[in-house]
Amino acid sequence: MAKIRTRFAPSPTGALHIGGLRTALYAYAMAKHSSGDFILRIEDTDKKREVPGSKEKIKELLTLEGLKWDEYYEQSKRVEEGIYKKAAEKLVAEEHAFYCQHKGRNAKEEGYSKELRDSCRDLGLKEGAIKLKVSDGEKISFTDFVLGKEVSWDTSTVADTTLLKSDGFPTYHLAVVVDDTDMNVTHVLRGHDWMPSTPVHLLVYKYLGYKVPEIGHLTDILDPEGGKLSKRKGSTSLDGLLSEGYLPEAILNFVMLLGWAPKDNREQFSLAEFVKTFDPSGFQKSNPIFNKEKLDWFSGEYIRRTQNSNLKSQIWEFLGKKYPAELIEQTIPLVKERMKKLSDYWSMAGFFFEEKRPDMALFGSDYKKHLTSAHEALLRIDTWNKASIDDALMNEVKDNLFNTGDFFMDLRVAITGGKFTPPINDSIVILGKEETLSRIKKII
Ligand code: GLU
Repeated sequence: MAKIRTRFAPSPTGALHIGGLRTALYAYAMAKHSSGDFILRIEDTDKKREVPGSKEKIKELLTLEGLKWDEYYEQSKRVEEGIYKKAAEKLVAEEHAFYCQHKGRNAKEEGYSKELRDSCRDLGLKEGAIKLKVSDGEKISFTDFVLGKEVSWDTSTVADTTLLKSDGFPTYHLAVVVDDTDMNVTHVLRGHDWMPSTPVHLLVYKYLGYKVPEIGHLTDILDPEGGKLSKRKGSTSLDGLLSEGYLPEAILNFVMLLGWAPKDNREQFSLAEFVKTFDPSGFQKSNPIFNKEKLDWFSGEYIRRTQNSNLKSQIWEFLGKKYPAELIEQTIPLVKERMKKLSDYWSMAGFFFEEKRPDMALFGSDYKKHLTSAHEALLRIDTWNKASIDDALMNEVKDNLFNTGDFFMDLRVAITGGKFTPPINDSIVILGKEETLSRIKKII
């Protein structure tokens, strides 16, 4: 069997979204599972829609996720080689395409029966854009390897589609066929929204006499609130999720299961494990839902598996490299169990770095008594450690017949500014005597 070659072919027109990452991941896994090649091809022939920097960003993000490509191409550079023009001219010469210059005429005026047919097609023009001359009433089909079924069209429903623009740039339809052929791509994987383009491609393959690769369209990812996941609603871009504090490995693992399932119920895979297990028969036919709670769960799992020293570096970077790394490392054990994203660290442990003024409504009615007593007890401690702090505070509670829960809650609010924080005595040990006393004093 020929070596498997797949490609990810993004247009550099904006951020890399979850759907794009999924296509790239599956194409990568499909190739790598059988030691094949994974190609990254930037489809940048529509210069008007290109967003500066997005090509670099796509490469940076794929690299971050470990999706290493074996070959890299940019279509705009290949335009200069003349390969697309040559293919389009061949189609014209063989009467499968025609030149067209639209000067306000359209199919209706020309008396054509179908608007899908272009009014230029029989004019015999010698220059202009090149359009595909689609036959009528022919059945064209292929077997989708993701959906596992034949998909077919009547060519009467396919429009005469532009292949080469008058500036010599190919449209997506021509470039994709020429490139997938030229690059020996064996399996084309793309999102479901590209399905309507496929009959055009099938005709171009046929008329150019090229072999059609295996083609598969991935399911649509659905929004939990209904409908297709939209780029406009919330963050579904990889960049957006990373800035929310999700770990790259967790996002990738989450994406693995958005349209593919293993034979057992296993859920956690590293990229290498995924590649090893990957089998195209695991592609799902029903549309997956983008379930953020599931992503939270994955991310929490990955955080707990990350070594503290490594997690420290990630948090340090996430917080803009401005807080002491040692203090981050010291405090990680207090919050790691409850963290789901890197951003959770700051909401739970930010008080170690910056004093947070508590909302006075959070204190109980006896807070002054509690804090005064805690202050005195802590002030007397010579050796600042967990045992001495536990002892001093517990004795204070007993001697004054305080309510234990209320006493420690007031102390917690005074020190941390909130009610939901790491264990208070452990926090006080790390915060140090001076800072602890000063925070209590301010409240009293
Ligand atoms: N350039 C298209 C995109 O942006 C590629 C579609 C395909 O893979 O054929 O998704």
